[in-house]
Amino acid sequence: MAAVNGSGESQPAKHQEVGHKSLLQSDALYQYILETSVYPREPESMKELREVTAKHPWNLMTTSADEGQFLNLLLKLINAKNTMEIGVYTGYSLLSTALALPEDGKILALDINRENYEIGLPIIQKAGVAHKIDFREGPALPLLDQMIEDEKFHGSFDFIFVDADKDNYINYHKRLIDLVKIGGVIGYDNTLWNGSLVAPPDAPLRKYVRYYRDFVLELNKALAADERVEICQLPVGDGITICRRLL
Ligand code: SAM
Ligand code: CA
Repeated sequence: MAAVNGSGESQPAKHQEVGHKSLLQSDALYQYILETSVYPREPESMKELREVTAKHPWNLMTTSADEGQFLNLLLKLINAKNTMEIGVYTGYSLLSTALALPEDGKILALDINRENYEIGLPIIQKAGVAHKIDFREGPALPLLDQMIEDEKFHGSFDFIFVDADKDNYINYHKRLIDLVKIGGVIGYDNTLWNGSLVAPPDAPLRKYVRYYRDFVLELNKALAADERVEICQLPVGDGITICRRLL
């Protein structure tokens, strides 16, 4: 099996144990995408952050390089300026967002863990984009509730990326649908949940995969039935569902 971390090592990258980063049938094809279209175009700062994160024990959580590239391009395509990210970890998707935004762009970045954010922060600062980030430590839901109470936040976000506790995605959606502007975009990450959504009941799933599986199934059904958004579920990374607010 080819390494997919771009380091040229021959052993499989850790995430392959759970098939986390690619649902493509062929690892070789995924490696081809990374080596042909992603790594050669990856900004130096994102590469550095990816390599620093690879040494962290929870590196399974990081956004893959191909998804980072996708987010960066998407943000430019929609001319995003005011954005939010729920679930920062060491900041790979945050940096890909920050690099895509104009100089006066903003990211409200929420995570319960500041320590991991601080691993990536020096690299973000060196890249000259830290001024776009307003990091808040703490659970996202109470902060969203506060924002919902203040009319000025309604319809104020061009883009929101959700990559945190999967058992709260439905709760986030209930609030984010009011905070994103009409025509704005919410991206829900990991909506294919390691491919476990279609696994037989007796499949040997990791405990956390099994635990969150039902929440992801419920979210996917809810988004598909939600007439306030147009959706597209993409098999990029571990699956990302793009929602565009209609009403
Ligand atoms: N987007 C990140 C990246 O590109 O590396 C990965 C995020 S990681 C999959 C999930 C993050 O969600 C963790 O850093 C975790 O601390 C955070 N998290 C978990 N529960 C949360 C909550 N209730 N509110 C805010 N953040 C939360
Ligand atoms: Ca993710």
